[in-house]
This record gives sequence, structure tokens and C-alpha cells, in this order.
Amino acid sequence: MKKLQNYVTGQWLEGKGEGVPMFDAITGEIVGLSDTEGLDFAEILQYGRTKGGEKLRKMTFQERGNMLKKLALYLVKKKADFYELSYRTGATKVDSWIDIEGGFGNLFANASLRKLFPNQSYHVEGDAIDLSRGGRFMAHHIMVPKRGVAIHINAFNFPVWGMLEKCAVNWMAGVPAVVKPATNTSFLTEAVVREIIASGILPEGALQLISGSARTILDTVDSQDVVTFTGSASTGRLLKSHKRIINESVPFTMEADSLNASILGEDAIPGTPEFDLFIKEVRKEMTVKCGQKCTAIRRVIVPQNLVEDVQIALGKALDKITIGDPRLKEVRMGALVSKDQVTEVRDRVQELAKTASIVYGDLDKIETIGADAKKGAFLSPILLREDNPFKNLSVHETEAFGPVSTIMPYKNLEEAITLAQMGKGSLVSSIATNDDNIAKEYVINAASHHGRILVLNRESAKESTGHGSPLPSLVHGGPGRAGGGEEMGGMRGIKHYLQRTAIQGSPTTLTEITGIYQPNAAYKEAEMHPFKYHWEDIEPGMSLKTHKRTFTDTDIINFANLTWDHFYAHTDITSLDGSIFEKRTAHGYFIISAAAGLFVYPNKGPVSANYGLEECRFLRPLYHNDTVYVRLTCKQKVDRDVASAEHPSGIVKWFVEVFDAEDELVAVATILTMVQKKQEVFVE
Ligand code: NDP
Repeated sequence: MKKLQNYVTGQWLEGKGEGVPMFDAITGEIVGLSDTEGLDFAEILQYGRTKGGEKLRKMTFQERGNMLKKLALYLVKKKADFYELSYRTGATKVDSWIDIEGGFGNLFANASLRKLFPNQSYHVEGDAIDLSRGGRFMAHHIMVPKRGVAIHINAFNFPVWGMLEKCAVNWMAGVPAVVKPATNTSFLTEAVVREIIASGILPEGALQLISGSARTILDTVDSQDVVTFTGSASTGRLLKSHKRIINESVPFTMEADSLNASILGEDAIPGTPEFDLFIKEVRKEMTVKCGQKCTAIRRVIVPQNLVEDVQIALGKALDKITIGDPRLKEVRMGALVSKDQVTEVRDRVQELAKTASIVYGDLDKIETIGADAKKGAFLSPILLREDNPFKNLSVHETEAFGPVSTIMPYKNLEEAITLAQMGKGSLVSSIATNDDNIAKEYVINAASHHGRILVLNRESAKESTGHGSPLPSLVHGGPGRAGGGEEMGGMRGIKHYLQRTAIQGSPTTLTEITGIYQPNAAYKEAEMHPFKYHWEDIEPGMSLKTHKRTFTDTDIINFANLTWDHFYAHTDITSLDGSIFEKRTAHGYFIISAAAGLFVYPNKGPVSANYGLEECRFLRPLYHNDTVYVRLTCKQKVDRDVASAEHPSGIVKWFVEVFDAEDELVAVATILTMVQKKQEVFVE
């Protein structure tokens, strides 16, 4: 029997034990043996920290992002093999698409985030903080990659997405990963890791795989490591209280069972688009992945006068679900992951059925096509109805991790909110309503207990990604029962693998460290006009002091006529009494335009375009006869890494300070220019 291998310490290794069989969810045949016996976890973690970490930490965010993109493009070409294997986990084509291409999507989405980070190996977060009166002492927060490994202990339901949604994030941060998928579907994770390693796109040590059990993996975690866990709440709690996790203060992100609720708004009566959308969404969440989704709808909360309608409509919708061999086109729902899981779900349903009644489906009867119902891990969708959800609490506590949901009634919105909160913390909730007052009331009051809330109506449905889809740009995680963790969420996710440190010092020192010119830092006087330099030769702090200009009355009137901005302060000096203006006042836009007239170098050169303006402030009014000059200082360089072969360029942000004749600062702005490079820096 074929044994799965583990990819650790730079090699594919077989375990030294007998191996644990993994079963085909459709036929019950043995797919292979998982064996991790004899693996030295301490050595594996240390290998990641040193071999993988050293290389990843030195890469810039741009390089890491491009690496992810390249990897995603590589894996897309191999997807047919992964789909084939995925059927053996019981997944239909649609289920596999979520797992496989959803996983690749995470690589692409995280790769795009490189544009939000500086072109260096560490991040500079937020704004500078002035800590002194004299402007000589300040602080900034930087975020550097942790020097440990990301250890991902994953669930069986998403063997590909579960790995990539997490690894994409730690790799972007510059941290290597050790992935430990759930044993029973690790054969699919292994197939993907084989391709990743074979591609040679990741630096060695950036990814290690333990294809199965790893009970002692946390015994040597240290304070620079990060652990994420997805699975049952009981295992999560056990691992979270591991003494190394506590003693070493290891960040532990847990994503566990969640009894997600979907609410039907009181306005969404039969015949409205929202009623139909609700039924469709509940059916989808019950049957996609056979309901084995952490985000699936478990509690269907509906107005009490609509319970019958919902029950009937859901029954009809579920009737259309054909179950069987997921390779067949007409099959809409495959099998659960294993027969053990069928037993587990049955037990949970029986627990629920102590107070609730089964109104659709049969625990012991199922019709399948193209597959032997007895050999595979098949189960019919089961719809329950709990008429006393405030008294019978099992429905808020028991998770049947399969195609199972329970309908329950509410009298008013307040009750619906309370019922949603009784799940004690969920990954996601949704409400189908076309009344935005209902939506607002629900969202504001239910948000405390949820990581994500979808408002579904006729408008959003056209492009909605659905109740069950965690997106790489949004927070995924939930409070309380859902584990109290947070994953992904765009930049936020990456920051989980970075150490935030407050740096205090002079503006000049902080300019050097952050790569961003800080106000009051020493200027680096440019030898020639800064607009004459190419991208590579410009550095933060490079500065030019311009000649002076005096504003005249005519300048201001001309600007008003040119732009048609006839605001009274510029055009009507008889109306200034009682205003903040003493004399005819220059337009703010005139000050900025005049500043540009002072700092721009007119001849053709490396600066190819004006790209925009940020953070513009006018600190006091400027009147006719006032004289100004400008300080133009390079604030920051932002590499666009756009493959524009003909004219590769980057964005330079210039800090523009406008001073009056007494050297008092009167206006500031940051302007953006596109500056040509001597050569293309990034190769995609
Ligand atoms: P488990 O919590 O048992 O397993 C999850 C992961 O933890 C697996 O990789 C498992 O490895 C690993 N694990 C278990 N015990 C240990 C340990 N002592 N040390 C290190 N790793 C450990 O969940 P199951 O996969 O068995 O699913 C059980 C239930 O969990 C489901 O019925 C469902 O209710 C819930 N669940 C929730 C999910 C979610 O996304 N929120 C996803 C999947 C399940 P191994 O497989 O090798 O035992």
C-alpha cells in the first residue's frame, strides 16, 4: 500500500510506522497510508526558522508578492490532477473549485497586497507620532517578520484552501510554514505540496509538510513562532492550553466550530426576491461540501408566521439535490469525508432531535446515483425544526458538521438578534431583507458576536459572494465559540506574522530607519534639481529650496477668473468683516499651483508625470503682497513594479512645504510624481 511522504528538512521522507489508512469517501477503498512516525518535530521547526526564515526575511514585500503570483500561475496549470484526487475526498466539482481554485485565489490576492507595503523587507505602520515641543524627538511603528515558523494545524474539509489561505499570508510576511493537514484528506494536500516543491519557486525551507498526525508538534514551539488551528473546539482548547503555548507566549489563532445563523427579515415574505434568495442560500450552505464548512448555515432564524413557508420551500429546494458519485455531472452533493464523520454527524443530529423534529431527510435512508450508498460516506440533507429555541438550547450548542440545519422562529427583530447571539460567537451571519432599517438594526446589534455579516437583498445578490465564502481581503474568524481568532483580512492578516515595534528617536534617525522623510529631519541638499534624477538616484530627504514669489492682487483675481472660483474671500473685499480673512486672500489651490510653479523643473527629464496629491493643508490664509518660497523634499519612494517594458517607473512622493518671508510654514502637501527608472528592477 502506497505511503504518503512528508516534506521536511529539505527532503521527502517516509514515516517509520505501519501507517494509518486514508479512505476514499465514495468507494470506501483505501487511498494510501499516512505515516509520520519517527519525524523529529524539533528539528523540523528549527529548519524552518533558519533555512526558510533567513531567505524569506530578506526578501522585500514586492519580491514575496511576485513569488506568490508566480506560484499561483504555476499551480493553476496543474489543477486537473488536483480535481481528480479531490473527488476521493467526497467533493463535487464545485466543492473542489472552492478548495483548489479558492486556494490559488488566496495566493493571487495576497500577491496583490505587495503594493500596499513598502519596497523593503519590513513594514512601516501608520503615521509618525510627535513626542516633543521642539520637533526633535518622535516615534514611528515598524513591523518586522517574526523569526519563527508558522505552524498550521488544519481541518479535513479544505485540504488545499486550508493550507494556502494561511501560507499565502505568512509567506507575504516573510515567515516560513510547517503545514499539518488533517490525516484523512492529507493525500490531496501532499499532491499540491509536491508540485509546489517541484516548482522551485519558494526558497528551500519556506514550506514543510507533515502528512498526518503530529501530536507532539507543539512541544518545542517558541516565542517567535505562530500557531494557527482549524478544527473542533475541543482540540483547539487542548492545544491552546499547551504549556509551551502559554509559557512562550506563542500567538495561537483558533478557528473552531461555529453555529452560524441566517435570518429571514420580516419584510421578506414569500413572493419577494429576498425570500427566494434566502431559500437558495440556505440550501447552498447545507449542501456545498456536504455542509462540512465552518461557515455553513446551521441555524435558520425566521419570523414565526413564515416557519411553515420556509419549511416547505426548503424541502422543495432540497428535493432537487441529487447525491452520489461527484464525478457525475448531475450529482449536486457528494459524500462526507469518512464513514466516521457520518457516524459523528448522525450522533449530533440525534442529540438535536431530542427536542427538535426532523422535518426533511432521513438519517437511515439515502438514494445515490453512480455510487454504492453503503460503501461511501453518504448522508441525506437533514432539516430540523426547533419551535422553542429560547428554552431548548441544544440548537445553539450542538454542531452537526454535515448537511444539517435547524429552522427556528422569532417574534420580532430583537428576538432574532438574541437568537443569533445565543450561538456565543460565530464566523458569519447573514440576513435577507430589503429594508435597510432592519439590516442596520441587525448588523449593529449582532456584530459583537460575529466575524462577518452578509446583508442579502435583490441588489447585492447580483454580485454577492455568498454567506459561506471567506474572502482574502476580509477578516475571517469570529469571537467566542468560533475560536476568538482572526485570519486573512488583507494587510491585517499579514501583520499577524510581523512584530510591531515602536521606534523612538530624532526625525533624522527615523527618516533613515523608515525610509520616509519625517518633518523636521535634516534636509539632504540636492546637488542638482531633484527632478533631474532617475528613480534609482533619488533618496528620502533629498531636498531643494526654491526662489521666492510675491502674490499680487492681480494674481488672485486672475486665478479667480481662470478657474471661476469666485468665493467671496478672493473676490469681494467688502464682505470680509466678521470672517477669518483680513484682506483679499489667495485661493488654496492657487498656493499649491504657485508652489508647483516654484519647484517644477521645466525641461524634459526623468519625471514623466504628475500623479496626484495627498495630505494637503493650508495652515494660515495668504494675502496679496505675501511672499512665499518652497522646500521640495523627497518623502518616500513607492515602487510600482508594473511591467511597463517601455518606460519602467516608480512613484516618488515629494513633501512640499510652503514658507512665508518670515520662514513660517503656511502650507504643506505631498505630491506624487512618476519617475523613470534607469532599468527595470522587477522581473515578473
Ligand atoms: P479535530 O479537531 O480533531 O482535528 C483538527 C486538526 O487538529 C487535524 O489536523 C488533527 O490532526 C489535529 N489534531 C487533533 N488532535 C491533535 C493534537 N492533540 N495535537 C496536534 N494536532 C491535533 O477535528 P476533526 O477534523 O476530527 O473534525 C471534528 C469536528 O471539528 C468536526 O466534526 C467539526 O465539528 C469540527 N470542524 C470544524 C472546522 C472548522 O472549520 N471550524 C473544520 C473541520 C472540523 P489529525 O487529523 O491527524 O488527527
